[in-house]
Amino acid sequence: MEANPHRDDGVTTPWSWPADPAPERTRSVVGPATDAALCLVLALAILALDAVTPLGIADGILYVAVLLLCPSGRHSRLIWLLAAGCSLLVAVGFWISPTVGVWSFIPVTNRILSVGMIWTTALLVHLLRDARRRIERQQDSLQKTNTILERLARMDGLTGICNRRCFDSQLLLEIRRCVRETRPLSLLMIDIDHFKDFNDQAGHPVGDRCLVQVACTIRACLHRPGDFLARYGGEEFAAILSAADADGAARVAEEMRAAVAALRIPHPKPSAGPWVTVSVGVGTIRSAAGDSDIAALAQALLRAADAALYQAKNGGRNRVSGAELSAG
Ligand code: GH3
Ligand code: MG
Ligand code: MG
Repeated sequence: MEANPHRDDGVTTPWSWPADPAPERTRSVVGPATDAALCLVLALAILALDAVTPLGIADGILYVAVLLLCPSGRHSRLIWLLAAGCSLLVAVGFWISPTVGVWSFIPVTNRILSVGMIWTTALLVHLLRDARRRIERQQDSLQKTNTILERLARMDGLTGICNRRCFDSQLLLEIRRCVRETRPLSLLMIDIDHFKDFNDQAGHPVGDRCLVQVACTIRACLHRPGDFLARYGGEEFAAILSAADADGAARVAEEMRAAVAALRIPHPKPSAGPWVTVSVGVGTIRSAAGDSDIAALAQALLRAADAALYQAKNGGRNRVSGAELSAG
C-alpha cells in the first residue's frame, strides 16, 4: 500500500519526504499589452503638453517617469519599445511645440538631453531587471538548499529513515493529537538481538548493511499513512502508530519480528541463533483526554515501551512484549 506523504495536518510520513514546493512566479496584475496601451496614452498626453510648452526637458522627465512606472517594463522587451516610442514623440514634440522653426540652442539641447535620459533610464531598468532576476534565482537555489539541509537534519545518514531528533518532535506531536482526539497511541521499540556479537564477528560494514536491511523490512510493515518510523539510536528503531490500540500495535510488532526473522540474515555467532532477529517492546496509551502534560506522557510512553522491550529481551529475545498505560 502506498503511503500518503502529506497528511492533512501537514505531518509527513517518515519515509516519504515532502516534495519541493513549486517556485512561485510573480505576475503583473496588468498584462504587458494593457501596460503598453496605458503607457501610450500617457505618452500621448505628454506629447499634447509638449505642444503647448516651449521647453522639451520637462517632457523628457515625464517620459522617464512613464518608463519607470510601466509595470511590465522589467518583464519584457517593452522597455526598449517604450524608449524608442518616447524618443520618437520627443522628436515629434519638437515640430509641434511652440519652438518649431526656432533652431535655438536651448530647445534642441533639451530634446537631445531628454532622449539621452530616456535611453539611460531604459538601460538602467534593463540592468535592474537582470539583477533582480539573478537575486530571485539565488533565492530559489537558497530555498532549495535549505529544504535539503532541513531534510538532512531530520534524516538518519545510514538507513535514510528519520533520526532521533525527528522522532522526538514527532512523538510530542502525535501525543498532542492523541490527547486532542482522545484516541489510543502506540509506540514500538525495536531492537536487534545480539547485534554487538554480530558486529564483533562480521565487522561493522556488514553490520551497517544488516541495519539498513532491518530498517527497510520493518518500514515495510507500516501500512497506515500516519505511521512513523525512526532510528532511535544504534541498533534500535522506534515506530509511532497513531490511533493503534494495544492489540493492533502488537499485531504490527509481530509482523515486524516475523519479517526480520524471515530475512534469514545469518548471525555469525552460533550462540546468538542462526538468524538475525529483533525484539519489540510495545507501549500504548489507551486514551488521553483533557489538558495532560504532553512531555510527561511522552516520557511515560517511552518508559512503558522500553520496559516491554526489556521484558522481551529477558523472555529470550526474538519476541514481542507489550505494556498499556491509561492517561487522562
Ligand atoms: P541485545 O540483544 O541485548 O540488544 O544485545 P546487543 O548486542 O544487540 O546490544 P548492545 O547494546 O550490547 O550492542 C549494540 C551494538 O550495536 C553495539 C554496536 O556494535 C552496534 N551498533 C550501534 N550502532 C551501530 C551502527 O551504526 N553500525 C553498526 N554496524 N553497528 C552499530
Ligand atoms: Mg540489541
Ligand atoms: Mg540496544
